Amino acid sequence: MAAVKACNILITGANRGLGLETVKQLTEDSCPKRHIFATCRDPEGPKSEALRELVKKHPGVITIIRLDADDPSSIKESAKKVGSLLGNSGLNLLVNNAGIVARGTIQTSSAENMKNTFSTNVIGPLLIIKEYLPYLQTAAKASGTPGMSCNKAAVINISTVGGSISTMPSLFSQFPVLPYCVSKAGFNMLTVLAAEELKADEILCMALHPGWVKTELGGEKVSVDVLVSFVLFLAQMWEICQNDFQIELTNTGFLK
Ligand code: NDP
Repeated sequence: MAAVKACNILITGANRGLGLETVKQLTEDSCPKRHIFATCRDPEGPKSEALRELVKKHPGVITIIRLDADDPSSIKESAKKVGSLLGNSGLNLLVNNAGIVARGTIQTSSAENMKNTFSTNVIGPLLIIKEYLPYLQTAAKASGTPGMSCNKAAVINISTVGGSISTMPSLFSQFPVLPYCVSKAGFNMLTVLAAEELKADEILCMALHPGWVKTELGGEKVSVDVLVSFVLFLAQMWEICQNDFQIELTNTGFLK
Protein backbone atom coordinates (compact mmCIF):
# COMPACT_ATOMS: atom_id res chain seq x y z
CA MET A 1 0.00 0.00 0.00
CA ALA A 2 1.12 3.57 -0.67
CA ALA A 3 2.85 5.11 2.35
CA VAL A 4 2.04 8.52 3.83
CA LYS A 5 5.27 10.53 3.65
CA ALA A 6 4.26 13.49 5.85
CA CYS A 7 6.92 14.37 8.46
CA ASN A 8 5.14 16.20 11.30
CA ILE A 9 1.79 14.63 12.10
CA LEU A 10 -0.76 15.27 14.86
CA ILE A 11 -3.50 12.79 15.74
CA THR A 12 -6.31 13.36 18.23
CA GLY A 13 -7.76 10.54 20.33
CA ALA A 14 -4.48 8.65 19.90
CA ASN A 15 -4.60 6.55 23.07
CA ARG A 16 -6.87 3.76 21.80
CA GLY A 17 -8.92 2.46 18.87
CA LEU A 18 -8.22 3.78 15.38
CA GLY A 19 -6.09 6.67 16.67
CA LEU A 20 -3.64 4.40 18.50
CA GLU A 21 -3.39 2.05 15.51
CA THR A 22 -2.74 5.02 13.20
CA VAL A 23 0.14 6.17 15.42
CA LYS A 24 1.47 2.60 15.50
CA GLN A 25 1.44 2.19 11.71
CA LEU A 26 2.94 5.62 11.11
CA THR A 27 5.87 4.79 13.41
CA GLU A 28 6.45 1.50 11.64
CA ASP A 29 6.95 2.78 8.11
CA SER A 30 10.35 4.03 7.06
CA CYS A 31 10.09 7.81 7.22
CA PRO A 32 13.28 8.98 8.96
CA LYS A 33 12.27 12.61 9.68
CA ARG A 34 8.83 11.73 11.04
CA HIS A 35 7.56 13.13 14.33
CA ILE A 36 4.12 12.26 15.66
CA PHE A 37 2.20 14.34 18.20
CA ALA A 38 -0.15 11.79 19.71
CA THR A 39 -2.81 13.66 21.65
CA CYS A 40 -5.21 12.33 24.26
CA ARG A 41 -7.31 13.53 27.18
CA ASP A 42 -5.32 11.92 29.95
CA PRO A 43 -1.68 11.16 29.05
CA GLU A 44 -0.87 9.77 32.51
CA GLY A 45 -4.08 7.76 32.96
CA PRO A 46 -4.67 4.00 32.61
CA LYS A 47 -6.41 4.41 29.22
CA SER A 48 -3.16 5.78 27.75
CA GLU A 49 -0.91 2.96 28.86
CA ALA A 50 -0.68 1.35 25.40
CA LEU A 51 0.31 4.71 23.91
CA ARG A 52 2.99 5.23 26.57
CA GLU A 53 4.36 1.75 25.76
CA LEU A 54 4.50 2.68 22.07
CA VAL A 55 6.48 5.83 22.90
CA LYS A 56 9.03 3.69 24.78
CA LYS A 57 9.41 1.42 21.73
CA HIS A 58 10.06 4.39 19.41
CA PRO A 59 12.11 6.90 21.40
CA GLY A 60 12.20 10.41 19.93
CA VAL A 61 9.49 9.69 17.35
CA ILE A 62 6.28 10.23 19.34
CA THR A 63 5.40 13.03 21.77
CA ILE A 64 2.25 12.66 23.85
CA ILE A 65 0.32 15.91 24.23
CA ARG A 66 -2.76 16.53 26.36
CA LEU A 67 -5.75 17.62 24.26
CA ASP A 68 -9.40 17.40 25.26
CA ALA A 69 -11.58 18.17 22.22
CA ASP A 70 -14.33 19.22 24.62
CA ASP A 71 -12.21 21.90 26.27
CA PRO A 72 -11.17 24.98 24.23
CA SER A 73 -8.44 25.98 26.69
CA SER A 74 -6.82 22.54 26.43
CA ILE A 75 -6.87 22.84 22.61
CA LYS A 76 -5.15 26.24 22.85
CA GLU A 77 -2.58 24.94 25.34
CA SER A 78 -1.81 21.92 23.16
CA ALA A 79 -1.25 24.15 20.11
CA LYS A 80 1.17 26.34 22.09
CA LYS A 81 3.12 23.29 23.22
CA VAL A 82 3.23 21.70 19.76
CA GLY A 83 4.22 25.07 18.25
CA SER A 84 7.17 25.36 20.62
CA LEU A 85 8.31 21.84 19.68
CA LEU A 86 7.86 22.40 15.94
CA GLY A 87 10.00 25.54 15.97
CA ASN A 88 10.25 26.72 12.38
CA SER A 89 8.94 23.51 10.87
CA GLY A 90 5.28 23.31 10.10
CA LEU A 91 2.66 20.66 10.72
CA ASN A 92 2.13 18.51 7.62
CA LEU A 93 -0.83 16.44 8.67
CA LEU A 94 -3.58 16.98 11.26
CA VAL A 95 -5.84 13.98 11.85
CA ASN A 96 -9.09 14.80 13.67
CA ASN A 97 -9.86 11.30 14.88
CA ALA A 98 -11.27 11.77 18.42
CA GLY A 99 -14.99 11.20 18.53
CA ILE A 100 -17.84 9.96 20.67
CA VAL A 101 -21.04 8.12 19.84
CA ALA A 102 -24.40 8.67 21.52
CA ARG A 103 -27.45 6.53 20.87
CA GLY A 104 -30.88 8.03 20.39
CA THR A 105 -33.81 8.69 18.09
CA ILE A 106 -36.03 11.78 17.74
CA GLN A 107 -38.09 10.40 20.61
CA THR A 108 -35.23 9.55 22.95
CA SER A 109 -32.39 12.04 22.24
CA SER A 110 -31.85 14.61 24.95
CA ALA A 111 -30.52 18.15 24.61
CA GLU A 112 -27.55 17.09 26.71
CA ASN A 113 -26.64 14.20 24.36
CA MET A 114 -26.87 16.52 21.36
CA LYS A 115 -24.69 19.17 23.03
CA ASN A 116 -22.05 16.66 24.14
CA THR A 117 -21.69 14.98 20.75
CA PHE A 118 -21.60 18.36 18.99
CA SER A 119 -19.01 19.66 21.37
CA THR A 120 -16.61 16.73 20.83
CA ASN A 121 -17.37 15.84 17.21
CA VAL A 122 -17.84 19.29 15.64
CA ILE A 123 -16.83 22.24 17.84
CA GLY A 124 -13.62 20.53 19.01
CA PRO A 125 -12.36 19.79 15.48
CA LEU A 126 -13.27 23.33 14.35
CA LEU A 127 -11.19 24.86 17.17
CA ILE A 128 -8.37 22.37 16.57
CA ILE A 129 -8.15 23.34 12.87
CA LYS A 130 -8.25 27.02 13.87
CA GLU A 131 -5.49 26.76 16.50
CA TYR A 132 -3.21 24.59 14.34
CA LEU A 133 -3.78 26.52 11.11
CA PRO A 134 -0.61 28.68 11.42
CA TYR A 135 1.52 25.51 11.57
CA LEU A 136 -0.27 23.99 8.57
CA GLN A 137 0.27 27.24 6.67
CA THR A 138 3.98 27.14 7.55
CA ALA A 139 4.25 23.58 6.20
CA ALA A 140 2.39 24.48 3.00
CA LYS A 141 4.68 27.45 2.35
CA ALA A 142 7.84 25.51 3.21
CA SER A 143 7.08 22.63 0.84
CA GLY A 144 8.00 24.58 -2.29
CA THR A 145 5.80 22.29 -4.42
CA PRO A 146 2.52 23.41 -6.00
CA GLY A 147 -0.83 21.69 -5.41
CA MET A 148 -2.27 19.88 -2.41
CA SER A 149 -1.14 16.71 -0.72
CA CYS A 150 -1.39 14.99 2.64
CA ASN A 151 2.41 14.95 2.66
CA LYS A 152 2.54 18.75 2.32
CA ALA A 153 -0.22 20.24 4.54
CA ALA A 154 -3.53 18.53 5.20
CA VAL A 155 -6.43 17.96 7.57
CA ILE A 156 -7.96 14.49 7.56
CA ASN A 157 -11.25 14.30 9.42
CA ILE A 158 -12.20 10.78 10.45
CA SER A 159 -15.92 10.84 9.87
CA THR A 160 -18.47 8.15 9.15
CA VAL A 161 -21.02 7.13 6.59
CA GLY A 162 -23.43 7.70 9.51
CA GLY A 163 -23.05 11.42 8.70
CA SER A 164 -23.96 10.94 5.05
CA ILE A 165 -27.39 12.43 4.31
CA SER A 166 -27.88 10.14 1.30
CA THR A 167 -26.86 6.88 2.99
CA MET A 168 -27.85 7.05 6.66
CA PRO A 169 -31.68 6.95 6.43
CA SER A 170 -31.58 3.35 5.15
CA LEU A 171 -29.27 2.32 8.02
CA PHE A 172 -31.01 4.22 10.82
CA SER A 173 -33.25 1.39 12.04
CA GLN A 174 -30.15 -0.80 12.48
CA PHE A 175 -28.07 2.03 14.02
CA PRO A 176 -30.31 4.38 16.04
CA VAL A 177 -27.54 6.84 16.91
CA LEU A 178 -29.15 10.15 15.95
CA PRO A 179 -26.91 12.52 18.00
CA TYR A 180 -23.81 10.86 16.51
CA CYS A 181 -25.14 10.99 12.92
CA VAL A 182 -26.30 14.60 13.16
CA SER A 183 -22.95 15.67 14.61
CA LYS A 184 -20.99 13.79 11.92
CA ALA A 185 -23.13 15.38 9.18
CA GLY A 186 -22.06 18.73 10.70
CA PHE A 187 -18.47 17.48 10.76
CA ASN A 188 -18.71 16.67 7.03
CA MET A 189 -19.96 20.17 6.30
CA LEU A 190 -17.14 21.57 8.46
CA THR A 191 -14.73 19.60 6.26
CA VAL A 192 -16.01 20.87 2.92
CA LEU A 193 -16.13 24.48 4.16
CA ALA A 194 -12.61 24.16 5.59
CA ALA A 195 -11.51 22.75 2.22
CA GLU A 196 -13.05 25.77 0.51
CA GLU A 197 -11.50 28.31 2.90
CA LEU A 198 -8.06 26.73 3.09
CA LYS A 199 -7.55 25.95 -0.58
CA ALA A 200 -6.01 29.41 -1.02
CA ASP A 201 -3.25 28.23 1.34
CA GLU A 202 -3.01 24.91 -0.57
CA ILE A 203 -4.07 22.99 2.53
CA LEU A 204 -5.95 19.81 1.69
CA CYS A 205 -9.02 18.99 3.82
CA MET A 206 -10.94 15.74 3.50
CA ALA A 207 -13.33 13.51 5.39
CA LEU A 208 -12.80 9.77 5.39
CA HIS A 209 -15.12 7.01 6.47
CA PRO A 210 -12.86 4.29 7.88
CA GLY A 211 -15.38 1.46 7.51
CA TRP A 212 -16.84 -0.46 10.43
CA VAL A 213 -14.21 -1.66 12.83
CA LYS A 214 -14.28 -3.30 16.23
CA THR A 215 -13.29 -0.65 18.77
CA GLU A 216 -15.06 0.56 21.91
CA LEU A 217 -17.06 2.89 19.67
CA GLY A 218 -17.56 0.81 16.57
CA GLY A 219 -18.88 -2.38 15.04
CA GLU A 220 -16.99 -5.52 14.11
CA LYS A 221 -16.47 -6.09 10.43
CA VAL A 222 -12.75 -5.54 9.84
CA SER A 223 -9.73 -5.69 12.15
CA VAL A 224 -8.39 -2.32 13.27
CA ASP A 225 -4.90 -2.80 11.77
CA VAL A 226 -6.23 -3.68 8.31
CA LEU A 227 -8.61 -0.77 8.39
CA VAL A 228 -6.06 1.85 9.45
CA SER A 229 -3.68 0.78 6.71
CA PHE A 230 -6.55 1.17 4.24
CA VAL A 231 -7.35 4.65 5.58
CA LEU A 232 -3.70 5.67 5.15
CA PHE A 233 -3.82 4.21 1.65
CA LEU A 234 -6.95 6.24 0.85
CA ALA A 235 -5.28 9.40 2.09
CA GLN A 236 -2.51 8.78 -0.46
CA MET A 237 -5.03 7.88 -3.15
CA TRP A 238 -6.42 11.37 -2.88
CA GLU A 239 -3.45 12.58 -4.86
CA ILE A 240 -4.61 10.40 -7.72
CA CYS A 241 -8.29 11.35 -7.34
CA GLN A 242 -7.47 15.08 -6.87
CA ASN A 243 -9.92 16.47 -4.33
CA ASP A 244 -12.93 14.62 -5.66
CA PHE A 245 -15.44 14.69 -2.80
CA GLN A 246 -17.99 12.91 -5.00
CA ILE A 247 -16.34 9.54 -4.52
CA GLU A 248 -18.19 7.45 -1.97
CA LEU A 249 -17.18 3.82 -1.74
CA THR A 250 -19.61 1.28 -0.37
CA ASN A 251 -17.91 0.65 2.96
CA THR A 252 -14.69 2.55 3.26
CA GLY A 253 -13.81 5.72 1.48
CA PHE A 254 -14.18 9.40 0.89
CA LEU A 255 -17.44 11.01 1.96
CA LYS A 256 -19.74 13.20 -0.07
P1 NDP B 1 -12.82 4.61 20.22
O1 NDP B 1 -14.00 4.78 21.11
O2 NDP B 1 -12.08 3.34 20.24
O3 NDP B 1 -11.78 5.80 20.46
C1 NDP B 1 -12.24 7.12 20.54
C2 NDP B 1 -11.05 8.00 20.85
O4 NDP B 1 -11.53 9.35 20.93
C3 NDP B 1 -10.41 7.67 22.19
O5 NDP B 1 -9.03 7.88 22.10
C4 NDP B 1 -11.05 8.69 23.12
O6 NDP B 1 -10.26 9.03 24.25
C5 NDP B 1 -11.10 9.89 22.17
N1 NDP B 1 -11.97 10.93 22.67
C6 NDP B 1 -13.28 10.87 22.97
N2 NDP B 1 -13.70 12.07 23.43
C7 NDP B 1 -12.61 12.89 23.41
C8 NDP B 1 -12.38 14.23 23.77
N3 NDP B 1 -13.34 15.02 24.28
N4 NDP B 1 -11.14 14.74 23.61
C9 NDP B 1 -10.14 13.99 23.12
N5 NDP B 1 -10.26 12.70 22.79
C10 NDP B 1 -11.50 12.16 22.93
O7 NDP B 1 -13.37 4.95 18.75
P2 NDP B 1 -12.80 4.61 17.29
O8 NDP B 1 -11.33 4.46 17.32
O9 NDP B 1 -13.64 3.52 16.74
O10 NDP B 1 -13.22 5.94 16.52
C11 NDP B 1 -12.30 6.89 16.04
C12 NDP B 1 -13.00 7.75 15.01
O11 NDP B 1 -13.43 6.92 13.93
C13 NDP B 1 -14.25 8.46 15.55
O12 NDP B 1 -14.26 9.80 15.13
C14 NDP B 1 -15.40 7.66 14.94
O13 NDP B 1 -16.53 8.46 14.73
C15 NDP B 1 -14.78 7.20 13.63
N6 NDP B 1 -15.45 5.98 13.10
C16 NDP B 1 -15.30 4.76 13.72
C17 NDP B 1 -15.96 3.65 13.21
C18 NDP B 1 -15.82 2.30 13.81
O14 NDP B 1 -16.44 1.35 13.28
N7 NDP B 1 -15.04 2.15 14.88
C19 NDP B 1 -16.84 3.76 12.01
C20 NDP B 1 -16.89 5.07 11.45
C21 NDP B 1 -16.21 6.13 11.98
P3 NDP B 1 -10.59 8.49 25.77
O15 NDP B 1 -9.85 7.20 25.92
O16 NDP B 1 -10.07 9.59 26.64
O17 NDP B 1 -12.08 8.31 25.85
